[in-house]
Amino acid sequence: MTEIDFQKIGLKVGLEIHQQLDTHKKLFCRCRPIESDEYTEKFSRSLRTAKSELGELDPAALFEKAKSKKINYYANSQSSCLVEKDDEPPHDLDHDAKKISLLISSMLESKIFSEIHVMRKTVIDGSNTSGFQRTMLVSQGGNLKVNGKNIGVQAVCLEEDAAKLLKDERNERDYSLDRLGVPLVEIALEPVSAKPFEVKEIALTLGRLLRATRMVKRGIGSIRQDVNISVMNSGVVEVKGVQQLDQLEKIIDYEAKRQHGLILIAEKLKKLSITITKEDVLDVTEIFKDCESKIIQKALKSNAKINAIRVRNFSGMFGFEPYNGIRLGKEIGQIVRFFGIGGVFHSDELPNYGINDSDVDKVRKHLELADGDGFLIIAGEDSKLDYAVNSIVKRIQDAVNGVPAETRAATQDGETVFLRPRPGASRMYPETDIPSINVMPEEVKFARENIPKSWDDSIAEIQQKYDLNFQLSEQIFDSEYMEMFEKICENKKNSPNFVASILCSSITNLERKGLDAMLLKPEHIIESFELLASGKIPKESLEIIFESIMSGKSENVSLAMQSTDVSSMDEAELNEILDKIIQNNMDLVKERGEHAVVTLMGIAMKEVRGKASGKMVNDLLHKKVSEL
Ligand SMILES: [Zn+2]
Repeated sequence: MTEIDFQKIGLKVGLEIHQQLDTHKKLFCRCRPIESDEYTEKFSRSLRTAKSELGELDPAALFEKAKSKKINYYANSQSSCLVEKDDEPPHDLDHDAKKISLLISSMLESKIFSEIHVMRKTVIDGSNTSGFQRTMLVSQGGNLKVNGKNIGVQAVCLEEDAAKLLKDERNERDYSLDRLGVPLVEIALEPVSAKPFEVKEIALTLGRLLRATRMVKRGIGSIRQDVNISVMNSGVVEVKGVQQLDQLEKIIDYEAKRQHGLILIAEKLKKLSITITKEDVLDVTEIFKDCESKIIQKALKSNAKINAIRVRNFSGMFGFEPYNGIRLGKEIGQIVRFFGIGGVFHSDELPNYGINDSDVDKVRKHLELADGDGFLIIAGEDSKLDYAVNSIVKRIQDAVNGVPAETRAATQDGETVFLRPRPGASRMYPETDIPSINVMPEEVKFARENIPKSWDDSIAEIQQKYDLNFQLSEQIFDSEYMEMFEKICENKKNSPNFVASILCSSITNLERKGLDAMLLKPEHIIESFELLASGKIPKESLEIIFESIMSGKSENVSLAMQSTDVSSMDEAELNEILDKIIQNNMDLVKERGEHAVVTLMGIAMKEVRGKASGKMVNDLLHKKVSEL
């Protein structure tokens, strides 16, 4: 496979960063922006097409409608009210959210408007109960400095976050309303010609600028990137929902290859003069009655129809792979899957999947195919099959033009999958329930005069103030625990180094073991560190207490201490236990001398874990053994 030259293929990347703001209220109501997976209410709606409001038919809306899903919403009365349910008009704009957005605009030298108009942006996937998202253009233009270079800012918007997707199944989709209406800023950067790692640097710098305000949410899901990616002569592809920087780099790399690959496929197709029309779609349900493929038999049992699509001169083109994993066959498979249809097979991969030579022969005969012709077989319910077949036909027709403009979703492993066609241009219209909002000169002045310390300066300050190394300072500042860290370190008995490492790594490690960090509340952490500072528990107990709470075994710190038998042992008691251990292992001590301490340590810690510090046990054992 060829190495890709990003400059030569004309890779352009535009970032759109969405950052949740750390406010006490949602953008247009008084609900608290807290996420929880306890829901007290559920209601359902079917998707709206929003045809009347758009004037022209939106291809993306039509596409969503074709999937005809029922949408279920889950709500919690703490984090949602009638506004989220679209049963009540929005309240006034949250003042803090406005203030933070003005501050961020100032940091980016973006020109703030004196009047803000609330607009509705059509949402077609059900992620908003009203069918639109409220958004406000706060400022335009500006610059972000990245390693000495200026990256242009297009605009800064203040918006409502969408509902959180819980589940997406064939005919139903579940959302929770706790995230709906949480304020976020959207920062759109000018598209740049840059390599994937350079784009990652840009995103990193912008993320740091936002965190330097100390008024934005942190942690997974609080910052998301949409990425507009194109190569020379291609349509722009929007990739949604990138959450991590490493993932961002991989996705740009993947899209560059996919898009350039599709252009290479198009160049080949242009020489083949491909025509495909509705006449090329034939019902082959009868032919497959006795087919041994499990997928086909399952489809037939549920009364599905089977269609074959003939594509003249297409042999070899579904499977042609200009870059690793980039094939037209894969693209078509992804489109079909989005209609809730499982099985599509193309001629370059058959016979396979239980479809044998004789099935293939029958199809080729029925479709009157010549050697160089290709075909597809697709099975699905009548209602969906037509939409899916039309999309496939359109995709093959479009293949000669290279890269279709579409919206794709980022996957965890750094690829992208088809989500829907690009929405039409006229997606915005004015919000009639809220009058325009004035931005006073003194508000702009306040924002300009209160630009926070840069990220670099903030880190340097933490390093100095708490005597932490750079890495730990960076980790704690970027984590959601920064405020808590400062609070805990107000007590001089707590070592900042220890506090930072517990907050940054121990809790994450427990999470990786599958425990739930949501159960561990800030007050639990603070109380545990207070106990430590006053000598009531040893260092080692902290993790034991957190583990007990995060696993759901204990509801609070004192219950966790009881159930895990955590307490501080006095030295006399400890001495007694250690003496006994040494007595029981006298042979070992005689044989190995000081080297026996390692083994003794293991035995002792099993017995006194959580009650005495490892260091103290180690010191005492060394002392006792050397005396012997
Ligand atoms: Zn509300």
